[in-house]
Amino acid sequence: MAKKENAYKGYDITTQAVHTGTGYDQETGAVRRPLHMANSYKLPDDLSQINYSSTDLFMYARNGNPNQHWLEEKIAALHDADDAIVLGSGVAALHALFWTLLESGDRVVYPNVSYMAVYRMFHELFNKKFQVDTVIVDMTDLDAVKRAITPGTKLVHIETPDNPTNGITEIAAIAEIAHQNGAILSVDNTFASPYNQKPLELGADFVVEEITKYINGHGDAQGGAIISNDLETMDRIRYEAQVNVGSVISPFNAWQIFRGSVTFPLRMERINQSAQKIAEWLEDPDDIIRDLDQALQAVGL
Ligand SMILES: *Cc1c(COP(=O)(O)O)cnc(C)c1O
Repeated sequence: MAKKENAYKGYDITTQAVHTGTGYDQETGAVRRPLHMANSYKLPDDLSQINYSSTDLFMYARNGNPNQHWLEEKIAALHDADDAIVLGSGVAALHALFWTLLESGDRVVYPNVSYMAVYRMFHELFNKKFQVDTVIVDMTDLDAVKRAITPGTKLVHIETPDNPTNGITEIAAIAEIAHQNGAILSVDNTFASPYNQKPLELGADFVVEEITKYINGHGDAQGGAIISNDLETMDRIRYEAQVNVGSVISPFNAWQIFRGSVTFPLRMERINQSAQKIAEWLEDPDDIIRDLDQALQAVGL
């Protein structure tokens, strides 16, 4: 698939969140994108040239649907990236990436703290079922990382800040070690979001994000995204994981997330302010004890 359009490249992320991926509806002139719930599309009269696994041509919703594609334009723009794939959940996006990149006998290095499904996927699925060599390391210890990432390692996957402990991993440092050894680096950026961190600019090859949380922001739809400038591999992911395994997002969820994402940068600004306040409050134990005491007295305890 071609590089995603971004007429707002270089603009502030607040502008990109409002304008990218949207446009006039050709049939009605509406200034917002419509919701297309159709699962099938009109095929060309000449069927001889059709590739039924294509993700470019709208034919069947699992191969891609307009609401998914418009959201992909926006997600790519938020990361200043050439391409994004939006799938049914964050875990579906993680699985799609690993499923496409890995083969039996490959070596993967991943963190000792990560979203639980990542551990389950690597340990129970890729290792036990498909004989992928999966190695756990403390990504905050660069010497340990250097020992774990051996030449020929296929993939290094990190998550920063991590879920659930908010531990920080140095993306640029890990990217350098991974690339020196010929490994691909993927980063789960869910907790930072593109408002606070763009891993591709720090040397990552792929970013995975759960867009159910910050990007949607309204608690009413689930989705996940893979973001990258590697157009060739992104097309392999579309084919091997979206079309052949079926992890596509529903048009309605894509439409909901697209709608929520308009206010994403404003919500992040407030989220950052609130996090800073809480961090400052937690710095002084006397403040915490005094405030908790007052709160308990207020409810009569
Ligand atoms: C929530 C989360 C996911 C999984 O996303 P789902 O949409 O629940 O599948 C992946 N990574 C991180 C860091 C998360 O917090």
